[in-house]
Amino acid sequence: MFPDRILLASIHDVSPRFESEVERLLDVLRPHVGERLAMLVVPNHWGDAPIRPGSPFASRLRGWADAGIEIFLHGYFHRDQASHTNAADRLRASFMTAREGEFLGLSRGDAAARIAEGRALLEGVIGRRVDGFVAPAWLYSSGAREALTDCAMPIAEDHLRVWSPVTGEQLASGPVITWASRTQLRLASSLAAAAALRHAPLKVLRVGVHPPDSRHPALLRSIEKTVRGAAAKRRPGRYSDLLAAA
Ligand SMILES: [Zn+2]
Repeated sequence: MFPDRILLASIHDVSPRFESEVERLLDVLRPHVGERLAMLVVPNHWGDAPIRPGSPFASRLRGWADAGIEIFLHGYFHRDQASHTNAADRLRASFMTAREGEFLGLSRGDAAARIAEGRALLEGVIGRRVDGFVAPAWLYSSGAREALTDCAMPIAEDHLRVWSPVTGEQLASGPVITWASRTQLRLASSLAAAAALRHAPLKVLRVGVHPPDSRHPALLRSIEKTVRGAAAKRRPGRYSDLLAAA
């Protein structure tokens, strides 16, 4: 046991669209981390799965937040609807993420407006402040990063680090362990990466799971093994612990 080492587990793409998948992922994570996990919530996934205040899903979200689960705003629509002017960004957005990089093409002003709208919705539903923001596919334009500072968002992360947009301070570094199931090749390589990374001597080990992971038994087994192994050696924590320690 390394008590100074932390495990941060998160469920991405929490939305009424994936309610049963999220439940399944919770069943896998909870025996090892309890309520010490983060949910990355999408206010209106692809523009046709809105979280409506007063709906059964909204009460459920409120219940998770009340139980101590951290709530992060995760884009607004999740899908990238901007047209990228930069060829490299365009390539990254379409091939690497199947056009899920909503915040890769946004200006500072547009990103700030979208963050403010999503934040107001989620905070109305959970009855407290959101704990942070994570851009879909961990992809940020420089304007999006500046907008997080403008909005005084407490915590943000990308694939390689966690930082405080308020102070600019880096709070943790090291790749997130995550799984992919879009193709057999990606699925196989994500299993191999998880098996290698779960033993990495990182101070903060981040594990991020997605709703489609719950449809693949091999992925669920890998997730369970990774989280069980990490929780045996590390303290399951919350992102806000990083601020307290900073
Ligand atoms: Zn996502």
